[in-house]
Amino acid sequence: MRATRALIHLQNLRHNIDAVRGKIGPSCRICLPVKANAYGHGAVDIARAAVDHGVEYLAVATVSEGAQLRDAGIDKPVLLLNQALPEELDGLVSNRLIPVAADRDYIAALSAAAARVDQDLALHLKVDTGMGRIGCAPEAALELARLIDQDPRLRFSGLCTHFPSADSLDPEDREFTRKQVGLITKLADTLRAEGISPGLVHAANSGGVVTSPESLLDMVRPGIALYGYEPVPEAPLGVRPVMELVTRIVFIKKVRAGQPVSYGRTWTAPHDTEIATLPVGYGDGYNRLLSGRGEVLVNGRRYPVVGRVCMDMCMIDLGPGSGIGLHDQAVLFGPDPAGWSAADIAARIGTIPYEVTCWISQRVPREVLP
Ligand SMILES: *Cc1c(COP(=O)(O)O)cnc(C)c1O
Repeated sequence: MRATRALIHLQNLRHNIDAVRGKIGPSCRICLPVKANAYGHGAVDIARAAVDHGVEYLAVATVSEGAQLRDAGIDKPVLLLNQALPEELDGLVSNRLIPVAADRDYIAALSAAAARVDQDLALHLKVDTGMGRIGCAPEAALELARLIDQDPRLRFSGLCTHFPSADSLDPEDREFTRKQVGLITKLADTLRAEGISPGLVHAANSGGVVTSPESLLDMVRPGIALYGYEPVPEAPLGVRPVMELVTRIVFIKKVRAGQPVSYGRTWTAPHDTEIATLPVGYGDGYNRLLSGRGEVLVNGRRYPVVGRVCMDMCMIDLGPGSGIGLHDQAVLFGPDPAGWSAADIAARIGTIPYEVTCWISQRVPREVLP
């Protein structure tokens, strides 16, 4: 087993599902996005554990991500959040993915693929109420809904939208989200009045779950909160990080004052000290921007990353007489509040925790803990 591993704490995933459940009540469904390998955590293991703990829906970004879940025997509804290419549509249908559609051409192509595969296809209509990414204009929704509703191969099973700024408590952002919710609920009412059942109406991401009780509707799609990072730190849900990136010290040496460490000699020891080398680097997804800025937890204490992070290694300054030994465990980020979380790393280098866990590369084995 490699020293560097990503421990996946399923206990924390279950805790986070319970925390979200407590916020949304018993009648609202949860759709867990497991796109990008479940934000780096391992899609199949996360999906299985979440489904076993009552999560009703899953979401992916690509057809191959959906196929991976089906190949693993997961049979829950799976939303496909991105638009698929024409050559991917037969696979989309045969894997029973639920696409989100927002224009006539895509709807027609989906219908044709369903006919080719000889299988009916459930789909959701995606409306752009302010995200500006994918979705039809609210004015176009009724006509597209009719098109789907009248197609013998297609089943209109949901109406959805997405929030760009629901993770903010700023009054202007909250008003923007409120308007989006107003648009989607009004559309659902219009469809019902026209005799079209909108199916599941859903909008909220993690931010919406926290800041916008009116946005919960029939289903929520929280990703980052279920992976254990507060979407709105000022209004915590009490979630716990699921991923813990650990390694072990593979080399310790005494360094004299003035001796340089790592590429570019950006750091030289200010006094005699001990330097430990960790077998983890940016090739594992421990970002090079953490050079001289990261902190690593060893035996209950934090030690600074000194010098540049290399592809396969980085160095920490233990100071003189730390008592830390060869092969001791080091934690790069995780749920232990004594050390850093992925959110702390993100804050330090100017990004978001989503990216920090997504970075953890294929080379790092995921070790799933019950
Ligand atoms: C990724 C994604 C989500 C989840 O967002 P979080 O901020 O992680 O809660 C929800 N909906 C859509 C459409 C997404 O692409």
